[in-house]
Amino acid sequence: EPSEIYRDTWAEVDLSCISHNLKVIKSRLPAPAEFMAVVKANGYGHGDREIAEIAVQAGADSLAVAYLSEAINLRRQGITAPILILTPIQPQEVPIALKHRFMLTVTNAGWLEQMRAYKSANSRDKLRIHIKFDTGLGRIGLREREEWDAMVPRLKQPDIEVAGIFTHLATAGNVDIGYSKAQAAKFQQMLGWVKESGVKVRQFHCANSAAALRFPEMVLDNVRVGAALYGFYAKEHAPDLQLRPALSLHSRLIHVKRVNKGQYIGYDNSYRAAEDEWIGTVPIGYADGWSQSLQGSEMLVDVQRAPIVGKIGMDQLMIRLPRSYPVNTLVTLIGKQMDEQITCAELAAHLGSVPQEISTSLSSRIPRLYK
Ligand code: PLP
Repeated sequence: EPSEIYRDTWAEVDLSCISHNLKVIKSRLPAPAEFMAVVKANGYGHGDREIAEIAVQAGADSLAVAYLSEAINLRRQGITAPILILTPIQPQEVPIALKHRFMLTVTNAGWLEQMRAYKSANSRDKLRIHIKFDTGLGRIGLREREEWDAMVPRLKQPDIEVAGIFTHLATAGNVDIGYSKAQAAKFQQMLGWVKESGVKVRQFHCANSAAALRFPEMVLDNVRVGAALYGFYAKEHAPDLQLRPALSLHSRLIHVKRVNKGQYIGYDNSYRAAEDEWIGTVPIGYADGWSQSLQGSEMLVDVQRAPIVGKIGMDQLMIRLPRSYPVNTLVTLIGKQMDEQITCAELAAHLGSVPQEISTSLSSRIPRLYK
């Protein structure tokens, strides 16, 4: 018997939204380009295998994850599509990457030299790599021409295939597009080094969701789409774009009571009733990923907004109800009740963060139900 049926809080993931979003995004690309579905962090909290499967079915050419462990996990779950690992792996981990045919992110010549010792046993296998250029995010990647030049001789050896060269934008979703344009120009300049070196490269890519949707000239040969695939995008960038959030989160009231004006609610007496009020308890807490910083944010009960009052506990929190409701009344934490909607973006605003921090924070204690 699956243990998750004993939990009164659950997430629903509508996989038809993922295929819809993927097809819509693809149809907006200015020219045929490959589509890489980014499924790191358990598919942005939606479930990595489920998202990988539907994305490939809907037309994704490849997948991306952050870590080798995530890629192995996908292969173990039967995912056979090409997978790019976006974060560098240790040189000694190359044999397992070869075994699973993973594509690796490489940022420097030193790594290529170091991994030689570990690769020799499988020397006939071509290692497929994507080289990361840092055009302004300041995270990983090579920045200087000398760094590129140092890699070139190794890249021309037959046991390496340069499947891609890529960069990542720092401000693709911002109103001001100046920095993105400067990064794109820097990337083009760096691609001049590549051309001059004579290294054969299968594809170039730089666009995440926002860039794929906003900057046609940055689509190049491939787009790496995460956020928009799950329905997260800033409406102001594409007002006519109808993406659908795939994830909703629900719970049920487990306790309802009347409190008198002046009574305290929550740890540290963190809320005091301003008048006589109805208070409901919802079985979700910070151990589920519902951060204490979400205190004051709202949930939907009977198509009305009910704010979290008092500090959020590890497993339970309290909301102020508009009136009395029976125990087991449905509470919607993310998603719609009729015309009312709570989005991950609204919750993220409480944290000063992005929608995907809300979805990726949902812990494994919350069951995901698929439809
Ligand atoms: N490419 C890289 C290198 C990333 O780190 C990420 C995610 O952060 C993505 C693409 C996907 O970005 P987005 O979710 O904005 O589409």
